[in-house]
Amino acid sequence: MAYRIEVLRDVCIGAATCVADAPNVFEMDDDDKAIVIDPQGDSDEDVYSAAQNCPVNAIILIDEATGEQVWPEG
Ligand code: SF4
Repeated sequence: MAYRIEVLRDVCIGAATCVADAPNVFEMDDDDKAIVIDPQGDSDEDVYSAAQNCPVNAIILIDEATGEQVWPEG
């Protein structure tokens, strides 16, 4: 599954858990907010873990094929 990944910058607190889980997808920018550098950089599992482990649910995952939001769950 390919994800469209969005980071809610206003919500992100710079915990960098996402960078630890998926270092080829996420990077911290100069404002200490996560940015997506390559949506396909790590496995779907790692991207999903990163989104799940974000303490403030700042990472939104959309299934590219269906347009359905897969994280956070409904
Ligand atoms: S885990 Fe969440 S709060 Fe932490 S840097 Fe990533 S998006 Fe921001």
